[in-house]
Amino acid sequence: MTDEGRRNVRDLRRANRARLLRQLYFHGPLSRQDLIQATGLSSASVSNVVADLLDAGLVVEAGAVESEGGRPRILLRVDTSCFEVIGIDVGETRIRLERFDLGLGELAALDLPVVGGSLDQEAVVTAIAAGLAELSADAAAPLLGVGIGVPGIVQHQPYAVVHGQTVGWDAFPLEERLREHTALPLFIDNGATTMAQAEMWFGAGRDADSAVFLLLGSGAGASVIADGAPFRGSTTSAGEWGHLNVQYQGRLCRCGARGCLEAYVGAEAVIARHAEAAQTAGAAGIDAADEEEALRLILATAEQSGPAGDAARSVLDETAVRIGVGIANVVNFLNPQRVIIGGWAGLALAPVLLPQIREVVREHALRLPYSLTSIDLGALGADAVARGAATLPVARLLEAGA
Ligand SMILES: [Zn+2]
Repeated sequence: MTDEGRRNVRDLRRANRARLLRQLYFHGPLSRQDLIQATGLSSASVSNVVADLLDAGLVVEAGAVESEGGRPRILLRVDTSCFEVIGIDVGETRIRLERFDLGLGELAALDLPVVGGSLDQEAVVTAIAAGLAELSADAAAPLLGVGIGVPGIVQHQPYAVVHGQTVGWDAFPLEERLREHTALPLFIDNGATTMAQAEMWFGAGRDADSAVFLLLGSGAGASVIADGAPFRGSTTSAGEWGHLNVQYQGRLCRCGARGCLEAYVGAEAVIARHAEAAQTAGAAGIDAADEEEALRLILATAEQSGPAGDAARSVLDETAVRIGVGIANVVNFLNPQRVIIGGWAGLALAPVLLPQIREVVREHALRLPYSLTSIDLGALGADAVARGAATLPVARLLEAGA
C-alpha cells in the first residue's frame, strides 16, 4: 500500500472512531447492533472500532440486554470517570470554576468574587491560576483540559486574545498569561457561546438546529446557532446582541455608543435605571452589596405598594419591553426555532417578566416567524457558562475520537 493509501485508511478509522464515540457519548449505553444501525457502518468496522475504544479505556461494557431469539447483547458506554475537565466562567460579578467528569457531572466548584466589580486583568489571571491549582489538586483522573468562557470577543492568533470593550480588555492575551501558571490544554471562548453549547448538549437547545441564546448578566450577549453550529461571522464577533441600537441617541452604553440594548437590559443598566426612577419618585434607593443582591431587591420591591414599588415596577416593565423588542429583532432577522434566555440576571428577571416579554415580541415580530419560535428560559441554571466551557475540551476529544 502507498503512503497515501495508508494515510487514507488511518483517517477513515479515526473518523469512524469519532462517529462511534460521539454516538455513545450522547446516546449511550448502546449495543454494537445499535451502533451499526445508528451509523450505517459495517459490522466488522464497528467491532474493530469498539475494540480500539475499549483498549483506550474510553468505553466500557455496561451490562447486557436480551435480544429476540439470540444471545444477549452487550451494552457499551463512555467511561465518564476516565478523564476530568475544568470549566471556568469569567463573569463580571464573580469567577466560577467547576471540575466535572467526562459526562459533565459536577465534582467540585469554586466561586471567587471579583473584587471591586472591575475585571482587572492581573486579578483575573491570579484568581484563575489559584482556582485551577486548588481544583486540580483533588482530581481523581487525568485532566483533559480547561475551558474558559469570557465576557468579550475571542480571537485565536494563534493564542486566545480577548477583546472585552465593555470591561476594559483591549486585546488581553489571556491564554499566554495563563500559560505562565499551567501546562493543561486551554480552550477559551465567549461566555455566551459556551453557555449555548452547554444548553445545546444537555439543556434547552437539545435537538434544535437553529436557536439564539441570550446571556443576560451585568451586560448582555448572545450566541447564534445556525445548522447546529455557532455562527461566528468573519472575525468571531457575531452575536453581539447587547450592542444592537434600540434607541437613537439613547442612554450611554459601556461600549461608548449611545442607545445600545445593553444600556437598558443588562443588570448594571437595570440597577442604574432603578436608582434614577427611585430618586424621581422620592423613594429610597437600593442598598446592596453587589449586583446580584441589588437585582433581587428590585424584584422584591416591585411586589410592594407605594412609590418605591411603583418605581421598581416601571423599571421592570421597561426592561421587559426592551428585552421583548430585542428578541423581536432577533426573530425577524434570524428566524430561529428557539430563543433561550440565560445568564444569572436573565434567570432572575425572566421568570417574572417572561409573559410580558412574549407579548412584546408578539406585537413587534412578523407573524409567521413569531408563530414558529419558542421563547424560554435556559434549563441548566446560572452555571451553564462554566459547564459549557468544560464542553470545549470534551468536544475536541469527541472530534479526534481518541
Ligand atoms: Zn454598546
